[in-house]
Amino acid sequence: MALIIRNGRVCDPSQGLDKVADILVIDGRIAALGERLEAPPEAEALDASGLVVAPGFIDVHVHLREPGFVAKETIATGTRAAAAGGFTAVCCMANTSPVNDSPLVTRYILDRARESAACRVYPIGAVTKGLQGEALADIGGMAEAGVVALSDDGHGIANANLMRRALEYAADFDLPVIDHCENRDLAAGGVVNEGAVSTHLGVRGMTRAAEEADVARDVVLASLTGARVHIAHLSTAGSLELVRRAQAEGLPMTCEVTPHHLALDESAVLELGALAKMNPPLRTAADVEALLEGVADGVVACIATDHAPHATLEKDQVLSHAPFGVTGLECAVSLMLDRLHWRQGISLMRVVELFSTGPARAFKLPGGTLQIGSPADMTLLDLSRETVVDASRWQSKARNCPFNGWRLKGAPVLTLIDGKRVTLDSAAPAKAPMEMVATLSRTS
Ligand SMILES: [Zn+2]
Repeated sequence: MALIIRNGRVCDPSQGLDKVADILVIDGRIAALGERLEAPPEAEALDASGLVVAPGFIDVHVHLREPGFVAKETIATGTRAAAAGGFTAVCCMANTSPVNDSPLVTRYILDRARESAACRVYPIGAVTKGLQGEALADIGGMAEAGVVALSDDGHGIANANLMRRALEYAADFDLPVIDHCENRDLAAGGVVNEGAVSTHLGVRGMTRAAEEADVARDVVLASLTGARVHIAHLSTAGSLELVRRAQAEGLPMTCEVTPHHLALDESAVLELGALAKMNPPLRTAADVEALLEGVADGVVACIATDHAPHATLEKDQVLSHAPFGVTGLECAVSLMLDRLHWRQGISLMRVVELFSTGPARAFKLPGGTLQIGSPADMTLLDLSRETVVDASRWQSKARNCPFNGWRLKGAPVLTLIDGKRVTLDSAAPAKAPMEMVATLSRTS
């Protein structure tokens, strides 16, 4: 099988490459990259004139909800959303039911992905059994079964000694530990950022110290153990400064930032209510400024969506009762091209790095490069295409998106996995979900 992609603007941060070129794919791998390449006569041709050709985008923080919460999302719908949003791979969090804390569950997820996924799926295993924060999960077993990282995401790990043991154990398997930094005592049941907005609304605030205290502890433990620590959804200027200093000392510390923490501040809660409720909460405009700086200067390894699908009924509750989380897979790339590249003037190379080479490097995943011999996973972008976010058209089951109606410049137009086109488009009319068809035929 051969494919020739002609005349794209090839942007590959792993090689510092940004030039118009052709890419030849043979048997799912990149066989050649250069100007006016010769292709075998049977090769399919794809004209990428005017488009950017980047290494396949990877989202390291996704909640696919399967097994256990398939009314919110499934591996099939979540990965269709990912592919439609420009991603060729996702890492899925362990807070399913049952929790992914054993090789059995890891293998189940990988099997389901093989049957139903529209993109690559890399499972993340739990750090502790049942995410209870009391005893370590079967890290060795899960490593063997194929997890790429460990995380109790959704919960902080309160017991610092357990975190230390987890880091030591994870290091034996060369796995990063992704920490959802939230000191539960300091968070004190807060629902939005502690400050002007929480006071105005009369709801409990979550102090920035709840995040920063755990980040600071993790810096100390990274230094003690030498293990790889990755901070999930970093949201405050203080956390960023801690990671910056840790990196300057040579510690193997990485962090991700979400699109919503870069595009919104806490004032969005006043307008959007529970649609802007997530954990960690949206912070102040000054925090957003600091995060944008970290994104531009390299402290931040990757943009990760923390795609957290919920049923509309659940999100329709009052602020204090609605669940945390927003969906992001189908608008993240457009949103970041619009905000980071067009508005902030961050180079295309850097934006592409945050979505591809950055996450691949931080998690030691295959991909993130267009080097000869690599799997032909690619994301094609149209930098000038304008779209309007319309969650009603999404592949995802969920609609809880604070960016609905936003007009954005720059969009993913195609993903290729192993050189094969994944043709999904969030802008296409939505199809009736399978279970809706099933319900209709049962009732009729
Ligand atoms: Zn989290």
